[in-house]
Amino acid sequence: MPDSELRTASDTIFAPATGTGKAAIAIIRISGPFAHGAVQQLAGRLPPFRELALRTLRDAEGEALDQGMVVIFPEGASYTGEAMAEIHCHGSQAVISDVIDQLSAMPAMRMAEPGEFTRRALMAGRMDLSEAEGLHALLEAETREQRRQALRIQSGAVSERSRKWSEILLQARALVEVAIDFSDEEVPDDTLAGALELVERALADMEAELSRALPAERLRSGFEVAIIGPPNVGKSSLLNAVAGREVALVTDIAGTTRDILEVRTDLGGLPVVFLDMAGLRKSADKVEALGIARAEARGEAADLRVFLSASDVGPLDWSMERQDGDIEIWSKCDLEPRSGMLNVSAATDAGISELLELIRERLMSRVAEMGILAIERQRLAVKAARDSLERCRTSLKADLPEIAGEELRFAMVALDRLIGRFGTEDVLDKIFAGFCLGK
Ligand code: GDP
Repeated sequence: MPDSELRTASDTIFAPATGTGKAAIAIIRISGPFAHGAVQQLAGRLPPFRELALRTLRDAEGEALDQGMVVIFPEGASYTGEAMAEIHCHGSQAVISDVIDQLSAMPAMRMAEPGEFTRRALMAGRMDLSEAEGLHALLEAETREQRRQALRIQSGAVSERSRKWSEILLQARALVEVAIDFSDEEVPDDTLAGALELVERALADMEAELSRALPAERLRSGFEVAIIGPPNVGKSSLLNAVAGREVALVTDIAGTTRDILEVRTDLGGLPVVFLDMAGLRKSADKVEALGIARAEARGEAADLRVFLSASDVGPLDWSMERQDGDIEIWSKCDLEPRSGMLNVSAATDAGISELLELIRERLMSRVAEMGILAIERQRLAVKAARDSLERCRTSLKADLPEIAGEELRFAMVALDRLIGRFGTEDVLDKIFAGFCLGK
């Protein structure tokens, strides 16, 4: 592609890269052909590339606006690939808006759209789409494990895998082409067999990655842990103890919590959403019956269930199947302990940290099995490639190299999409709309 087509726009963009609210320092980023010129107008002399320099920032009339640090980056070796600059000024609203006003008044300068710096980086080939999505996940990360996961994607884990698959498929395609070209003549026996072997290798690898995608996506969105038990067993109290604050209504009148309550927590680096399945019981009350059906479905779909029983309440009068890794606990153990079960009391805090550790351990074992496909768009692209390869395998087995070749081509297009080589504008718009300003 010629250089001019690599850029979405030739105007110079700017935006605060730091958040709103009072802060010691704010960073304003500038990217585009006039980035260095803009700094020169504001700050006088330009420092050497990549060296922070203290300067007085002045408006067009020469009045001092602030003292700050400026840095410039050369075209071809910056985040966006364009000439770039950063102004590190004081973080007050007044300073930021005055600097922004000065920049806005300069010709061919405009405020950046959310994510526009990264979009330019993508267009200039500084990163691919999967890495840009990883970066987005990194900016959104709330817990340590989410940060680790996002960093892997941002540093190219998905891109690298995609390249590996594409290489294998390219070899397979070359063999299939040979079979097609020689179709009237003597085709070497092992040509299609060789292609089949390569396709099966890529297929197995994609299958393995897809089967590990669910925990990866869950780590992004948060694992769900359902707290289940009969009314008054202590679910809301347990949830409050977990959250360390009053989130659920604690009461001794059965059936007061009708809706599913959610509490988001950071459980030692894992994002965990605890669901209070409410004080539900089989009831003639229509609203409550609906609530039970909803709670059942949600509870079954959760990543883990914690079942509570206690000495002063009966058993659960609706059923929920136990799944691998579910936890049974004895609630209100301060009233009456029970051996052979994890004893927990929201009243005395007994067993709460053991319970949380147990939940964390069980979820961590799933994180350990987690693959790199944490982002839905990326998973769908690999799934599309896998589907094409399955059809390709069938065609190869049926000795139909033309169809096999087409399916291989589709699979490679899907992989190109994965890393954004065939990104359509609306896909890009959707992805970058979620970015913050200045990124
Ligand atoms: P839920 O209906 O399962 O959500 O139960 P709640 O959390 O609302 O608790 C029902 C009743 O049991 C309330 O009166 C709580 O004060 C009491 N309770 C909850 N947890 C404990 C506990 O650990 N020890 C004791 N002694 N009482 C508890």
